[in-house]
Amino acid sequence: MTKPITAGGEIDSWCTKCKLVLNHRIIAMVGPKPARVECSTCGSHHNFRARAPGDKGPGSTTTRAPRSTSGRASVTRAQQALLDREREWEKAIAGKMVNDFRTYRVSETFNEGDLIRHTRFGDGVVTRVLDARKVEILFKDEPRTLAQGLVD
Ligand SMILES: [Zn+2]
Repeated sequence: MTKPITAGGEIDSWCTKCKLVLNHRIIAMVGPKPARVECSTCGSHHNFRARAPGDKGPGSTTTRAPRSTSGRASVTRAQQALLDREREWEKAIAGKMVNDFRTYRVSETFNEGDLIRHTRFGDGVVTRVLDARKVEILFKDEPRTLAQGLVD
């Protein structure tokens, strides 16, 4: 149990003058929370502020999504392109039946949007028909240009 916060009690607060989180004496309360405090170091009176400006702190009462260790800022352009592609691939593949996929064969010809099952690369979607002999197929890991319409 932490000791109850009351006027006259002590609390750690950001001091607007010292620019530090320091011990303060509570002057006024608003409901269960301290409103005005007096800095024990410099004696200034100011509003209570639990943390330094900009610091959200770990004790925030609002629930937040767990922060991933790889920050958003560290995602490179290449990684982002990869993620976009993977999302595009997932959108094309999601919810499709096994029967919706055609087994890839160089002798076949394909159309944009065709779903492909490749023995080595897995499931893919035809994103572009480059010409009569070539199609671009987006697989989960990367897009590949594959042959089509070859007669052997
Ligand atoms: Zn102070």
